[in-house]
Amino acid sequence: MSSPDTHATSSLTIYFRLLGYVKPYAGLFATSILGYVIFASSQPMLAAVLKYFVDGLVDPQAATLGNIPPLRGLQMMHAVPLLVVLIALWQGIGSYLGNFFLARVSMGVVHDLRVALFNSLLTLPDRYFDQNNSGHLISRITFNVTMVTGAATDAIKVVIREGLTVIFLFAYLLWANWKLTLVMVAILPVIGLMVVTASRKFRKQAKKIQVAMGDVTHVASETIHGHRVVRSFGGESYEQQRFLASSQNNMDRQLRMTRTGAIYTPLLQLLIFSAMGVLFFLVLWLRGDASPGDLVAYITAAGLLPKPIRQLSEVSSTIQKGVAAADSIFQQLDELPETDTGTVTRERVEGRIEVRMLSFRYPGSERKVLDDVSFAIEPGQMVALVGRSGSGKTTLANLIPRFYHHAEGQILIDGIDVEQYTLRNLRRHVAVVTQQVTLFNDTVASNIAYGDLAGAPRTAVESAAEAAFAREFINQLPQGFDTLVGENGVLLSGGQRQRLAIARALLKNAPILILDEATSALDTESERHIQAALDRVMKGRTTLVIAHRLSTIEKADVIMVMDAGKIVERGSHAELIALGGHYTRLHAMQFEEPTEADSHSA
Ligand code: ADP
Repeated sequence: MSSPDTHATSSLTIYFRLLGYVKPYAGLFATSILGYVIFASSQPMLAAVLKYFVDGLVDPQAATLGNIPPLRGLQMMHAVPLLVVLIALWQGIGSYLGNFFLARVSMGVVHDLRVALFNSLLTLPDRYFDQNNSGHLISRITFNVTMVTGAATDAIKVVIREGLTVIFLFAYLLWANWKLTLVMVAILPVIGLMVVTASRKFRKQAKKIQVAMGDVTHVASETIHGHRVVRSFGGESYEQQRFLASSQNNMDRQLRMTRTGAIYTPLLQLLIFSAMGVLFFLVLWLRGDASPGDLVAYITAAGLLPKPIRQLSEVSSTIQKGVAAADSIFQQLDELPETDTGTVTRERVEGRIEVRMLSFRYPGSERKVLDDVSFAIEPGQMVALVGRSGSGKTTLANLIPRFYHHAEGQILIDGIDVEQYTLRNLRRHVAVVTQQVTLFNDTVASNIAYGDLAGAPRTAVESAAEAAFAREFINQLPQGFDTLVGENGVLLSGGQRQRLAIARALLKNAPILILDEATSALDTESERHIQAALDRVMKGRTTLVIAHRLSTIEKADVIMVMDAGKIVERGSHAELIALGGHYTRLHAMQFEEPTEADSHSA
């Protein structure tokens, strides 16, 4: 990527890969090209028609329409009005075919790319979501894809339509007067160079203005967001100076660009008219035995040339932008999906979890987040994980359903390594209830019966809601189970959302439950309901709880205390308190106050 050469080849590779997406639409694409050929062919026709008109004016006998009876006596000149309309019609047909079919191709490509990107999101590992911010992932699907179509199809449109126009016009010019045309070709690059230099300078200044504008916005927004700090620390005059400087700078640059623009336009006019002057001179000089009509037609055709040439010269920036956007799209599409090499599937597991000498580092980090962790949970047991924030509890819980891949040690479910299960089957056995409940903008019932559970009978959904103590509030909603919950469940309270999540886990009826207890305090009523719902969902399942509440911890069969990725103590509440170690300290810090609150509320 470092040298311009390799960059050029890789842009080309990206472009060809992009064109690969156009392949399924080859027929439509060919139709649109045909349309553009028709369009481009109409351009020299206009010039040619002029020839007959002018020649007819000069010498009425110059060209007649032949000897067919109704046309006899009519001159070519008289056909010109009709011909002009016919040419417009011809051009219109070409324009329609070209634009419409190309648009169909480009919409198809946008659609295909979007679907491919979205599908890749469904298979990418958790790591990918950690490393890429969601704003970028979303804008890739919405924005980048449209930029790409710019390159894949709009650029093609210009290249084909304007390119063919140039070719047709040029062929006509050569045919009409090749000597004149060759001389013109010799002076064309000089004019072209002058135009390109001027416009490049112009563009560079436009870019500088964008930066200067960014500075103005930046200073203003810092002051707006930090207005309290500015005032309380007496930063007014500093901010004033800063803003004055950036606004002044912006004005200076704006002025400079306006000046360039003001010079540029007349300069360009001068250039074009000089070129015309040269052309007229050449026409006089090289006219040979050409008729006035020939010359007018020639000059008209030559006059039609600059516009398509300019458009062609501008197309490269569209292509560049598109290729850059495509690059990021293909990077995502090339990401490896979650590894899923397991082959074992089980209808139902008993739920015995055994972790052996498990160590884990997050990708791209040297630090061990889990360090030689070993433990076993028997079917139906409940284990509470406690420890300071950052000690590795969530990470440990996430490794069981293989949200991340661990390289050292083993996690076994019913004696089989989790790596050996197929991902889908493994995750069927594990229900996860986290602090952040995710709800989809759908009905209450569909939110409980989400995903694999979608086919669950209504009675099962209702009894799951009942068991999760959610029935009561659901019945009070305007349409009961058929009420839409709003985007991410905005219409529900925190406690209600959690009970829906618990109902979802109950309906899933997986033998293993991973529970990340909510840390944020809920009102006592919700708290009581949720506790009762949790007790119910834990019953008869192997449960691993990341526990924040004393009530949960005291009920646990085993408490494991984590610190810096290691299990430092394990045992019952009483045993650990008696030990007077980590747990006692943690307990003093973390659980003392909630205990008091609990006893008040009980
Ligand atoms: P706990 O749940 O005990 O608060 P975590 O398992 O969330 O601890 O975090 C353990 C350590 O791993 C922390 O130091 C945290 O910074 C790091 N960590 C957590 N998630 C990620 C991630 N997705 N990528 C990189 N590092 C992470």
